Amino acid sequence: VRDGANADYIPILATVPSDLFGIAIVDRDGKVYSAGDVDYAFSIQSVSKPFTAALIMAQQGPEAVRTKIGVEPTGLPFNSKVAIEIYEERSGNPMVNAGAIAAVSLVEAESEEERWQLVLDNIEGFAGKSLSVLEEVYTSEYETAWGNRAIANLLYNYGRLYADPEESLRVYTRQCSIGINTIDLAMMGATLANGGVNPRTGRAMLPPEHIPELLAVMATAGFYDESGKWMYSAGLPSKTGVGGGIVSVVPGQFAIAAFSPRLNEAGN
Ligand code: GLU
Repeated sequence: VRDGANADYIPILATVPSDLFGIAIVDRDGKVYSAGDVDYAFSIQSVSKPFTAALIMAQQGPEAVRTKIGVEPTGLPFNSKVAIEIYEERSGNPMVNAGAIAAVSLVEAESEEERWQLVLDNIEGFAGKSLSVLEEVYTSEYETAWGNRAIANLLYNYGRLYADPEESLRVYTRQCSIGINTIDLAMMGATLANGGVNPRTGRAMLPPEHIPELLAVMATAGFYDESGKWMYSAGLPSKTGVGGGIVSVVPGQFAIAAFSPRLNEAGN
């Protein structure tokens, strides 16, 4: 499938070779099956969002996600400002930009550095290895983040952001700039498939009783305004990112991840 195009609203993403393609399955025992460009490190972008939502659930319980962010699909694009104005919940759900920036702001931390370290440590825990930020991606996105800055300020205006807006924007943008490869992504999903325990390291990331809530939000909003079509055809709780990553979870069995930079018009 050669339809679509690299994201280019984050300028550096337009320079990633469009023909890269990798696919990987990790099962709940940590066994890896893969093909293609699975070692290429790309920016995690929005595939990070369910995992930071998991951090909030682990820290504060699933009620915090429901009441302080929201769990309703918006039916609108991932970066919608209209959704913030028309829905009383403002932030929508943790899979769209508004809800994801709100999630980062909710992380209990004394400083920006601590907030970032908690977010990074959580993503690393799901991946089962240490990861680093693709600094060029961070700079490219942060320098052009006027839309997300507007979202952070709108949420703050409505009392639905829980830390300083610019700090929240910076930590969110760093989160999106973390470099991962396709196998890392499948391992992150396999941690959800395995009751919240990383199959490689044995580290418990999310209590198993909260996995259904997290997968519910992925199922209803993981594909943004195409989530219905995706569930109709694929039927798996999933999350995409504009870096070209996607992960789907088969609860209790395995996760499947793929990477291909070309996106369709919904950004999937
Ligand atoms: N960092 C991206 C943004 O905020 C994430 C969007 C995505 O991956 O869908 O625009």
